[in-house]
Amino acid sequence: RPYVRRKGHPKILLMGQRRSGKSSIQNVICNKMAPAETLYLESTNTLQTASINSFTEITFSELPSHIPASSPEIATPQNYASLGAVLWLIDIQDEYLSTLPSLIQTALFFHTHYPRLHFSVLVHKTDGLSPEYRNEAYREIRQRVQDELSDAGIPEYEIAFYQTSIFDLSIFDAMSKILQGLIPQLPALEALLTRLCSACGMQKAYLFDTASKLYVATDSGPAVLKDYEVCADYVDLIVDIKALYGWQLEAKGRRKSDENGEENIGESVVTFEKSGEAYVYAREITEHLSLICIMGKGSTPDKRVLIDYNVSLLQDAVVEIFKM
Ligand code: GDP
Repeated sequence: RPYVRRKGHPKILLMGQRRSGKSSIQNVICNKMAPAETLYLESTNTLQTASINSFTEITFSELPSHIPASSPEIATPQNYASLGAVLWLIDIQDEYLSTLPSLIQTALFFHTHYPRLHFSVLVHKTDGLSPEYRNEAYREIRQRVQDELSDAGIPEYEIAFYQTSIFDLSIFDAMSKILQGLIPQLPALEALLTRLCSACGMQKAYLFDTASKLYVATDSGPAVLKDYEVCADYVDLIVDIKALYGWQLEAKGRRKSDENGEENIGESVVTFEKSGEAYVYAREITEHLSLICIMGKGSTPDKRVLIDYNVSLLQDAVVEIFKM
């Protein structure tokens, strides 16, 4: 789906019934709150906003369930004209069918007034449920929503569905995909990562926002949650090393020479090590972005020189892309 062309930075609105998990998601993603701590979150009564400062500011707002999207105080051009995506949360551990009418009503409102906005449904709190129950409920919700949209005369309205939980990385994976729909640089970044994979025999490459662990882009090969999980662990490592050694590149993206006139590229290269079967290559690309790659089968450490070279080219290209 094409990205939403809106002025300013990506803005995402979270909606859904009371206790469906809106504040929890906001806090886990923006404030690094431990999932278990969300148990003690107070209910919110007003529009609340939190943000991530990445290569651009990414804003998450939460609309309390008693305020409908169409309420005149909220439905102002200031609030909605710059919005990129609306997420509707369904608590799958609760009586979820009764919440579908308000979901449909909200979807219809946005389709009528802001048809280019991305609308997604998060079938949330999937932890602790059997895969059979979870998948069945997910299918049922999807089918019902699609039936309702057909009955309303808009069967073509594209709504994305995700299964999420804050107790694993599925919420980060879903949020990454939603965010990517709001990033104009996505096609260029994807093309670079795909080329890197084929040049270096990589299985999968992710460009992460280092602070939030959301990935901004990945190569065009098949993506599975397991690969994302392996790579996300290395983002923590980058964060730790960053805290120890600081950032070595100048803002304009050129490599700074140290006192001996040698390039300081080493500091940004974090690791190339074996993780289970495969080697993982992790390297900071800009102040906010990190590249984490899973090498293909049969990869050996002597490939490192080739990879370093190709990643330097990618690094220069990424800096250029974000400058434009
Ligand atoms: P809000 O009213 O929509 O903002 O909901 P909250 O974020 O306050 O969450 C309500 C409750 O749901 C809290 O006790 C959270 O700990 C819990 N919760 C949120 N996300 C999840 C999840 O993915 N799985 C489970 N099991 N509980 C969750």
